[in-house]
Amino acid sequence: MEVPFINLERQYLAIKPAIDRAINDALQSFQFIRGAQVEQFELAFARKLGVAHCIGTGNGTDSLFLALRALGIGPGNEVITPAFSWISSSETITACGAHPVFADVDGRSYTLSLEDVEARVTPRTRAVIIVHLFGQAANATAARRFCESRNLFLIEDCAQAHLTAEGPKYAGTLGDFGCFSFYPTKNLGAYGDAGAVVTQDEALARKVRRLANHGAMEKDDHKTEGFNSRLDTLQAAILLAKLPHLAAWNDRRSSLAKRYIEQLRGIEEIALPTVTPGTTHSFHQFVIQAKNRNALKEWLHSQGIQTLIHFPQALHNLPAYRYLNHHPEDFPNASRLQSAVLSLPLYPELTDDQLDYVCDRIRAFYKR
Ligand SMILES: *Cc1c(COP(=O)(O)O)cnc(C)c1O
Repeated sequence: MEVPFINLERQYLAIKPAIDRAINDALQSFQFIRGAQVEQFELAFARKLGVAHCIGTGNGTDSLFLALRALGIGPGNEVITPAFSWISSSETITACGAHPVFADVDGRSYTLSLEDVEARVTPRTRAVIIVHLFGQAANATAARRFCESRNLFLIEDCAQAHLTAEGPKYAGTLGDFGCFSFYPTKNLGAYGDAGAVVTQDEALARKVRRLANHGAMEKDDHKTEGFNSRLDTLQAAILLAKLPHLAAWNDRRSSLAKRYIEQLRGIEEIALPTVTPGTTHSFHQFVIQAKNRNALKEWLHSQGIQTLIHFPQALHNLPAYRYLNHHPEDFPNASRLQSAVLSLPLYPELTDDQLDYVCDRIRAFYKR
């Protein structure tokens, strides 16, 4: 049996008439930038999350960059961000002219350790970025309390957390900003690059909208310089057609995750994902920690099963951050995770049979 890591074609075929109609309507309008679908999607996504404002952007990385810039983060400022994440949550700090300060993550939940953040706060710290990594809710309520007590901004990286929730609150609604990506393989994915920023604050929303559109709210009204990072009409149309399915797709991810956990429980050599009590996990990725990880990955590959490693190097160990002169032991959990984690195939279109086969092959590996 072949089990690819992801299958975007199956999802497309399941909703083909709606997608084809959406693309065709957007094409026929010839309003490729700032077409009606952009605002329609912004309103629909904000309503879905229960947040006051949503601004479409070019991609998730730009969402983080625009949020930092709108908060006035710049040279001389430090921003604390997880040592175990995708590079967007640190490179955007540098892009603002500020200084990225890494903090360690919890070794089981993968979310930022507030104790370690506390140890790394200095008088120059202006903001904290939490990442709802793999779809796990990153304790936004506690992070918000922490940030409020120290007068710091809180940004939520929600690129992997569409409809992740803490109690009744969706990820992205508790920080000053929630930053989303609609990269094609995310839980809500466009057919190209796309992103959004959400916020409860009207003034901050206006700042992001201005910055993302050359500093102008309306044509030629350049109060400041800005950037060009807009959600385009075709992508907005595709996202509008997909949005009504997001909750059901997440439910399917969740039941597949349960099935994985039931079948893999009891294998001593692996640690299964946890779900923080009181939260809803979006299961963007199903990440195990495995003994002999590399050999397991190779074995699964030989059995027709594609897996990925998120991430093979923690951020502080990347050549890009060598200048910070960190040692692996500065972030013990992040450093350990890079050689333990393995992402198994998990997407709504994965069949039960495919999942059962993956579990069978993992069991076979540890029995050899
Ligand atoms: C995907 C991702 C991003 C960046 O999104 P792009 O749209 O690819 O720029 C940022 N942070 C995390 C955690 C991501 O997974």
